[in-house]
Amino acid sequence: MSDKWIERADQVVMQTYGRQPLVLVKGAGCRVWDDTGREYLDFVAGIAVCNLGHAHPEVAAAAAAQLPQLVHTSNLYYTTPMVELAEELVRHSFADQVFFANSGAEVNEGAIKLCRKYARERHGPGRHHIISMLNSFHGRTLGALSATGQEKFWQGFEPLLPGFIFVPFNDLDALDKATEIGACAVLLEPIQGEGGVCLPEPGFLTGVRQLCDKKGLLLVMDEVQTGLGRTGRLFAHEHYGVKPDVMTLAKALANGLPMGALLATAEVAQAFVPGAHASTFGGGPVIAAAAQTAFGLLSNPEFLAEVRAKGDYLEEKARELQQRFPVIKEVRGLGLIWGLELTQEGAPVVTACRERGLLINCTQGNILRFLPPLIVSKEEMDQGLAILGAALEAVFS
Ligand SMILES: *Cc1c(COP(=O)(O)O)cnc(C)c1O
Repeated sequence: MSDKWIERADQVVMQTYGRQPLVLVKGAGCRVWDDTGREYLDFVAGIAVCNLGHAHPEVAAAAAAQLPQLVHTSNLYYTTPMVELAEELVRHSFADQVFFANSGAEVNEGAIKLCRKYARERHGPGRHHIISMLNSFHGRTLGALSATGQEKFWQGFEPLLPGFIFVPFNDLDALDKATEIGACAVLLEPIQGEGGVCLPEPGFLTGVRQLCDKKGLLLVMDEVQTGLGRTGRLFAHEHYGVKPDVMTLAKALANGLPMGALLATAEVAQAFVPGAHASTFGGGPVIAAAAQTAFGLLSNPEFLAEVRAKGDYLEEKARELQQRFPVIKEVRGLGLIWGLELTQEGAPVVTACRERGLLINCTQGNILRFLPPLIVSKEEMDQGLAILGAALEAVFS
């Protein structure tokens, strides 16, 4: 049955993805089912999107209740779920104001525009550069792609947008030198997700913050993947005692419905005046109602403490596997985002896991990435890691 769907998709859907040969039809909690009825434990969660698990009943109910009321008005008018969601985001973060859009790339585009506009008003023309990190990922639209420090994503699409320079993640000296170019902002992921779950070294983010303050640059954090409870704090930057001036969120914001948010301090946000930026769908009532419910659950301190405890457990289990399999070179992560760097290609492990009923993802060719829903149970983690052990055994012995 699946083969037929895959054949049909390959005829009419553009081939932009290296998709797993799996046709999914249903999800609940940490599990999904394919069109043959086979069940899988899902440790990808739609790439850190379904943080509350699949088909979360309260989120579904919030969206369902809003659907017959009002679906779309455009931003020519006010709607109420958007206001309440923005209030909650502001209440739980460094930010004073929010702009809503529909995806991670789109809010990063917004962040780039906001920083340029703010810098132009404050310093005049010339300080338009954005300093971004090598190995970063900020999305696939041209601006976000230009901010992404990985050449493999650029190929074939040049010329990119000018005004971006790159420095290695965790290199404060290189960053210091780069500021001489006339920059308005430093853009970074507090933990590089797509780049292979790369953590900031102790002192790096504090150093970036100090440098930004000294040179009058904005600090923009792309928390599209790390935000909203993924690391066991509402936002990853809270672990490091550093506050950004601008932050982008998307992935988990509406637990699977498309939404992005650009957050900023009042000082920076005032650079966006009527007409400066817009999105037809941004902050629509159905998505905002779903996000409001999701955010209420994700921002609960008890829930976040549980995520941290689960993260400790997952780390312990992953380190046990590392003892057994020397092919695991490094185990790194925080909360419930983990990367297992292998000395070999990871794709065969992803396949072997899938064949045994576990979905995981591989990034950068050799880094197995684990992003289970944050509601994952101890039993599910045990089951997932047991399957991973069996898969590693099958592939590497
Ligand atoms: C996924 C991701 C993006 C892009 O989000 P889209 O919704 O796919 O546009 C941007 N930044 C980071 C850190 C991401 O993980």
